[in-house]
Amino acid sequence: MLEMSNGSQHQTMKLSKNSWILILIFIILLLFFSILFFFRSKPEYVSKVDIALGTTVKVVVSSDKDPGLIIEAILREFHRIDRKFSVTDPKSVISQINKSENPVEVDEETAFVIERSIALARATEGAFDPALGNLITLWGFDRINDSAFKPTIPSDSQIEEALEKSGYENILLENDVVILNNSVKLDLGGIVKGYAIDRGLSIAKEMDPEATGYIDAGRDIGIIGPKFGGEYWAIAVQDPRGDSGEYIDLVYLKKGAIVTSGDYERFFMMDGVRYHHILNPKTGYPIRETISTTVISPDAMDADAFSTAAFVLGSEFSAVLLPVLGGQGLFVDAQNKATYTEGWSFFKEKH
Ligand code: AMP
Ligand code: MG
Repeated sequence: MLEMSNGSQHQTMKLSKNSWILILIFIILLLFFSILFFFRSKPEYVSKVDIALGTTVKVVVSSDKDPGLIIEAILREFHRIDRKFSVTDPKSVISQINKSENPVEVDEETAFVIERSIALARATEGAFDPALGNLITLWGFDRINDSAFKPTIPSDSQIEEALEKSGYENILLENDVVILNNSVKLDLGGIVKGYAIDRGLSIAKEMDPEATGYIDAGRDIGIIGPKFGGEYWAIAVQDPRGDSGEYIDLVYLKKGAIVTSGDYERFFMMDGVRYHHILNPKTGYPIRETISTTVISPDAMDADAFSTAAFVLGSEFSAVLLPVLGGQGLFVDAQNKATYTEGWSFFKEKH
């Protein structure tokens, strides 16, 4: 009886020793895998820079498929859109429409972009106006990057004349047929970069739904997917009067788009005055009260039109209108003072 009892006691002690060894092994393995997880290699990003739509386009992609192929496909799309929607290339669809005195039947994509432009013009009370082609050509902002371009300030009567041949109400679009009344000309420069970014994001997602990265077309940025699959991208907003890279604010995004319009992008100086590319559709002159606007919105195309519109509308009105339209914004006035929509602060934190 005693012996048996002793035997069973001995067995219990042996078992618990084994258990301790097992627990120790488990802890060591746990530590090992924790360290491995912590130092695991993060997904690598591949990037490429190109020039399209009159600006530098940087595409940054990480994918288990072929990131290089995704980048090439996105850049090809940028060049295709550039050729198709250019106001200066005589072969572009926009030039064909602008040249024609008759109704022009357009393809589905062109109809979509024009239709959205008209809708955004209405939503922003004409501050974003896709039918300012005559004014923009008069000032020369469509040719400002040409080496032969010589800036001149148009006379009041020239501006008056170009203003009469402006205004989105003169664009008629029905059943994919475009009619431009009153000799207006299209200029989609305020929205086409956003459209190209949206297309680029769709292409990336079609080629690899798990792809992450971003597209940066001259400070107009669309997020392909969160950094390393789950983290925020920190995005700096350019200080409009600072050197390139100096920033006035930092926001965090995992998705959506952030688009900036600035008076430092396309401009010329004359007698100490800056004449830049964002025109007031009411006066025909460059806007003076604002020097930069940045808009965050789910779609880059909307953000692009909104940032141009906010530039024209000024901070007070834009701070009210933008959130209603689904955007948040940062506005910098002529005194270099920044103001924000109420919801902007949301993007200043990692949630
Ligand atoms: P963004 O840099 O997106 O603000 O677009 C500026 C470009 O949009 C200019 O270079 C012109 O081609 C065009 N643009 C200028 N003023 C306006 C305006 N009020 N509404 C729509 N497009 C404009
Ligand atoms: Mg714009």
